[in-house]
Amino acid sequence: MKTKIETDIIVAGTGPAGLTAALALAQAGFSVALAGPPLAAGDRRTTALMKPSLDFLDRLGLLDAIRPQAAPLRAMRIADATARLLRGPTVTFRAAEIGEEMFGMNIPNAHLNAVLDKAVKDTAAIRPLGALVRRWTPGEDAIEAELENGDTVVARLAAAADGRRSPARAAAGISVKSWQTGQSALVLNFAHARAHDDISTEFHTEDGPFTQVPLPGMRSSLVWVTRRRRADELAAVSDEALSAMIEARMQSMLGRVAVEPGRQVFPLSSALPARFADRRIALVGEAAHVFPPIGAQGLNLGIRDAEDLARVAKSHAADPGAKAALAAYDRARRPDILARASAVDMLNRSLLSGLLPAQAARALGLSVLRITPPLRAFFMREGLRTGGGLAGLMPWR
Ligand SMILES: Cc1cc2nc3c(=O)[nH]c(=O)nc-3n(C[C@H](O)[C@H](O)[C@H](O)COP(=O)(O)OP(=O)(O)OC[C@H]3O[C@@H](n4cnc5c(N)ncnc54)[C@H](O)[C@@H]3O)c2cc1C
Repeated sequence: MKTKIETDIIVAGTGPAGLTAALALAQAGFSVALAGPPLAAGDRRTTALMKPSLDFLDRLGLLDAIRPQAAPLRAMRIADATARLLRGPTVTFRAAEIGEEMFGMNIPNAHLNAVLDKAVKDTAAIRPLGALVRRWTPGEDAIEAELENGDTVVARLAAAADGRRSPARAAAGISVKSWQTGQSALVLNFAHARAHDDISTEFHTEDGPFTQVPLPGMRSSLVWVTRRRRADELAAVSDEALSAMIEARMQSMLGRVAVEPGRQVFPLSSALPARFADRRIALVGEAAHVFPPIGAQGLNLGIRDAEDLARVAKSHAADPGAKAALAAYDRARRPDILARASAVDMLNRSLLSGLLPAQAARALGLSVLRITPPLRAFFMREGLRTGGGLAGLMPWR
């Protein structure tokens, strides 16, 4: 028998952004129906979440469960490993320089998703549907979602956290600009002989950044962004050969390296929609922004989407899907998403570019950052939250 479910808000997508949005909207006082598949195992990536994201997860009551498997990030180092004519110096950013204990934490995705999933199941205001949405029908006063099992959901607002291909975004009539740079990320975890001291190091190479991020103990995760063919080749070499390559790329700063089983390769792409909400549908997570994993931005933005959507919905509680509410959400998200997307794209292109002006700008930028503590502090605060850099320069604001 087909069921018709009435709810305040339907969230589509059971990835980390959708689970966080469902929890945030439930905490804001709404009834939530959550469409999407059951929790999938097998994501062996880790996610670096910055302090503001962790603070928000703490307000959702999740940080104590996350912490035991997470590693703190107390410093971030950028090293120019290009063989370009113009190279920048190594720059280290320390959280203590801006009065913070840490920039954030690196968390295994499997653990983060399991914590979010359990919290969703423990929240009475969230109804997990266990099925995907087959068809969306946005209307004047409500939006209807037909599920793959034949049930229908009627809601005032839909949060589309249904990933980079987002069927809900298409139903909202929102166009997307997508582009590719021909890169993939090889992702793996590895053990090492020397302590990482809670420092993450990003090596800039001509093919993209090679980023080591601490895990608890004498382990780290690696996101090695490189040309697509090279990533596939690297995924196929023996453990011994790959361990030696990683140790060499890191100039043995962590001593001997031993890669763990379970390498994964992610082809990279970028996408930005023309609007972030329309026709009772608000975009959240990768439905709203896709870019390469540089500077740990993706899910941090996705969590800010969830935070802003819950805040805007609460201030339009009578009808969280009304035009005024969607316009407020679009206004709230636009500067943050565009700033992050363009910064990531610019840095990535400056690495790939063989042009001297691009190399000069990057090398000069790193040199200036190295010798100018207030500028470093600005970028550290800005890295944590858009506008945070300015707020740090004007602490009275
Ligand atoms: C190698 C790599 C490293 C990264 N590292 C970091 C990092 O350190 N820090 C960081 O902040 N970000 C990082 N990111 C980005 C981060 O992983 C993504 O932003 C995040 O996973 C996106 O989550 P999401 O929930 O938006 O999308 P997804 O995880 O793709 O979830 C989409 C969900 O929608 C569901 N769905 C699809 N269609 C429907 C439908 N019709 N109905 C209902 N549900 C549907 C899918 O089944 C899925 O559950 C990294 C990304 C990569 C590739």
